[in-house]
Amino acid sequence: METKKVIIIGSGPAGYTAALYTSRANLAPLVIEGHEPGGQLTTTTDVENFPGFPEGVMGPDLMANMKKQAARFGTQYLQTHVSDVDLSKRPFKVTCENGNEFLAETLIISTGASAKYLGLPNEMALIGKGVSACATCDGFFYRDKVVHVIGGGDTAMEEAMFLTKFASKVYVVHRRDTLRASKPMQERAMANEKIDFVWNTEVEEILADDTGVTGIRVKNNQTGEVSERATDGFFLGIGHRPNTGFLKGQIKTDEQGYIIPQNSPHPDTNVAGVFACGDVQDSYYRQAISAAGSGCMAAIRAERFLEENGGH
Ligand code: NDP
Repeated sequence: METKKVIIIGSGPAGYTAALYTSRANLAPLVIEGHEPGGQLTTTTDVENFPGFPEGVMGPDLMANMKKQAARFGTQYLQTHVSDVDLSKRPFKVTCENGNEFLAETLIISTGASAKYLGLPNEMALIGKGVSACATCDGFFYRDKVVHVIGGGDTAMEEAMFLTKFASKVYVVHRRDTLRASKPMQERAMANEKIDFVWNTEVEEILADDTGVTGIRVKNNQTGEVSERATDGFFLGIGHRPNTGFLKGQIKTDEQGYIIPQNSPHPDTNVAGVFACGDVQDSYYRQAISAAGSGCMAAIRAERFLEENGGH
């Protein structure tokens, strides 16, 4: 089994930045990218808050460039999921879904977070048939159609605004009567004539026929009134869940599954030689730039760890 000095699991801004730093330190990292190389930013359009791009940059372009930059210094990439890790001894064993197995002297976990679903019975079966958690991926299919977006945070606002480029009408269904989204996002969404808000409302059922989603059954949680609303699209914008299931309890996480850094400000975990960066350990900032910054920190920690433990 091949032994790597550094294996980076996950490929968002955190993973690619960790790859850039460790490859420039001659550690020949392997990035196991998952099935969506580039992570969440590949499902957004304009990124206006990543420094260095006065006109903004497209999320997928930013990720493609980060990947290319790390490849220049010898980073290897593998597009599969990690199904299992054994962190009980070093080198750590990493088992991939495609059957590949590796040993790693250090491990950097940057698996990010994935969109949450409501948990309604037919929700997952209807993905691609009217249910989506990614407006930028699927919005195009809703030209002149009616869509509903669920949630009251920045994700929901961003999805709703993006969908107005295509849909004839966008309804935002929120379980309270105030939004959690930041003020500028709220103001933009409220000013958009194509967007209407459905307050104090929870979705009870997604209605569908052979062609896909046709409507939703909702309940007003103040009046108890139940009603049906016709819709072609059902977009989730209710936040994210950290991708830590594959760790099977070997790394300390909080109750939501976010990795808890152990040696603040360093991105160390409770296992020596395993570091974590990006959204998988950050439920607060969740920004591309903070993810990239923590990727840099994890890479430097991995490099120092190898120096101190004779692996460099
Ligand atoms: P948030 O946790 O901020 O918001 C989630 C929203 O979904 C809340 O309104 C919440 O309702 C609602 N919700 C959660 N669970 C359910 C449920 N089971 N049923 C119904 N509604 C539910 O997540 P976001 O993904 O919106 O944002 C996360 C972070 O990322 C934030 O810090 C945000 O600022 C940032 N972000 C920034 C963007 C940008 O700047 N362009 C874009 C996207 C995100 P309630 O309010 O009642 O809890």
